[in-house]
Amino acid sequence: MKEWTKEKAKRAYLFDRWGNGYFDVNDKGHLSVHPLKAGSVGIDLDEVISEMKDQGIAFPAVIRFQDILRSRVVEINEVFKEAIEENNYPAKFFGVYPIKVNQMREVVEEILEAGRDYNYGLEAGSKAELVSVLAYNRNPEALTILNGYKDNEYLKLALLGRRLNRKVIVVIEKMTELERLLDLSEELGVRPLVGLRTKLSIKCAGKWADSGGERAKFGLTTTELIKSVRILEERGFLDCAQLLHFHLGSQITDIRNVKDAISEGTRIYAKLRQMGVPLEYMDVGGGLGIDYDGTHSTNQSSINYGNTEYASDVVSGIKQVCELEDVPCPNIVTESGRSITAHHSCVITKVIGTIKTAQTDFETKKSEGEHILVTNMRDVTKELKKENFNEIYNDAKKIKDDCISAFKLGVINLEEKAKIETLYWQVTARIDQMVDKLEFPSDDLSELQDSLTSQYLCNFSVFQSAADSWAIGQLLPIMPITRLNEKPNVWCSIADITCDSDGKIDRFIDLEEETKNLPLHELKDGEDYFVGLFLTGAYQDVMGDMHNLFGRLNEVHVYKDGDNGEFYIEEVIPGNKIKDVLSTMQYSPEFLSYRLKRSVDKEIAEGNIRPREGVAWVDFYDNCLEDYTYLKT
Ligand SMILES: *Cc1c(COP(=O)(O)O)cnc(C)c1O
Repeated sequence: MKEWTKEKAKRAYLFDRWGNGYFDVNDKGHLSVHPLKAGSVGIDLDEVISEMKDQGIAFPAVIRFQDILRSRVVEINEVFKEAIEENNYPAKFFGVYPIKVNQMREVVEEILEAGRDYNYGLEAGSKAELVSVLAYNRNPEALTILNGYKDNEYLKLALLGRRLNRKVIVVIEKMTELERLLDLSEELGVRPLVGLRTKLSIKCAGKWADSGGERAKFGLTTTELIKSVRILEERGFLDCAQLLHFHLGSQITDIRNVKDAISEGTRIYAKLRQMGVPLEYMDVGGGLGIDYDGTHSTNQSSINYGNTEYASDVVSGIKQVCELEDVPCPNIVTESGRSITAHHSCVITKVIGTIKTAQTDFETKKSEGEHILVTNMRDVTKELKKENFNEIYNDAKKIKDDCISAFKLGVINLEEKAKIETLYWQVTARIDQMVDKLEFPSDDLSELQDSLTSQYLCNFSVFQSAADSWAIGQLLPIMPITRLNEKPNVWCSIADITCDSDGKIDRFIDLEEETKNLPLHELKDGEDYFVGLFLTGAYQDVMGDMHNLFGRLNEVHVYKDGDNGEFYIEEVIPGNKIKDVLSTMQYSPEFLSYRLKRSVDKEIAEGNIRPREGVAWVDFYDNCLEDYTYLKT
């Protein structure tokens, strides 16, 4: 057997491409995490898993690398700083983090902390988000940007922020918001900071593109922009108009869309400035993407640019138009969320079994008076040679189909059906081994190979942990944590433990074309095999639904300890217990327990259960209410 190398592991799982320098494989063949990117000694992910086991933390679990989060915040600020220096840009960068992408308190705290020296701010898109943002973003230099539809309470909270001397900017999405904001400001005697969100004509391709274009849900049309400026002027609030905003949609795959948006958006900025609107900031929204599939292309799950190129194009694009239009350059605001949070967290799940259609270990010897179909199938399989595999494959398929019809008519029995199927799987496995893949008609070949692959059953819920993979077909990188120095020899897809046929992942990243199966290792008795879903820190972390009442996962926060691969687990956040998920669905765990106990008591009273046994059953039920929702394995 040819040697399996790290280079081959890279080709199989592409972690050097989607990992952005944060992931590698160490000498033990374990996946390692490098919060400081290239050159640093990595944290062995298998060691983190062992430590979690020692601490009694059950899987599936979310592991967050808080140092990666910090690294992402520093990186976006540094690339903009460099682009500003290189272009001699005469204004500043003020990034904000949109908390909808991952609202976890620990995530928001870490981002603010890492961004403190850069006056990095926050963005809220709803009243509930604003309630938390107001309490967290206390830096008077950092921006708080408010998007989304707004009622009067939302607007009043914004004015509260102004009273606290914060740079809270209300971005007007609809004309009616503007009138109400100005009414409230007059009533409370608080001057607002106003942003205007414009709809750009450009619309980019992609799964998240509906935020852009003329029919976008949010933003003002050109006529509305002009009307808004007139209202601000008439009511004496023009000096409050500080920011122009647009947002193309998330995961912009093609850098050309960014360039187009910048030139269109900056023209609008310039024209408004020329009309006397004293705009100080231009907010180019989110959309900075992630290379989920590692192809560095305009695939839906990829991007054809990096952070440096993005920053450089934004800065130089704005400067160019401002010079042409002879207006001052604005401070630049971005609202990147995905790019900040995606890398820092992963979901680790244990493979708990295999679901295999192709069963080959049933006794198929000839028996007295067996049905002719069984005999035929046995004879066909004996004739397999290199020259006739295609013919044999077709014959075997035909007999298997006939067998199903015959079984439905009651002509063959269960034993005979099992024999025919076994013979069929044995011969197809042999065909798969012997064929020169190029000679085989490709439809037949892929049909055969698909039918031979297994599903690895993993203890997690796709709906909870990879919502976008299910809802919009987003690709996420998935790979084993260990044995990366061994050739993976099982091609399989992933099935979750929900009772739903959609609860699976059967689309995987690849350099050429996405694949239906992933190469994994054969399971060994008595040895745990964990796989990770990576880049889950943006949206996936917080969007999951409670399909089948599988709730939030156990979670640990890992920090590096020095630079030699040591780490410590700082925080453990327990996932949902069964009683928690039932409570969110309006059940009372106490009442459930009471009802169960009543039923047991009745059986005891009728003499069907002994009291001692009854008590044990009630205790068992109560303990189950305290259990983690996922399988104990
Ligand atoms: C969702 C959203 C963002 C975040 O977009 P990413 O692509 O995750 O960076 C930024 N701004 C607005 C207005 C949004 O709705």
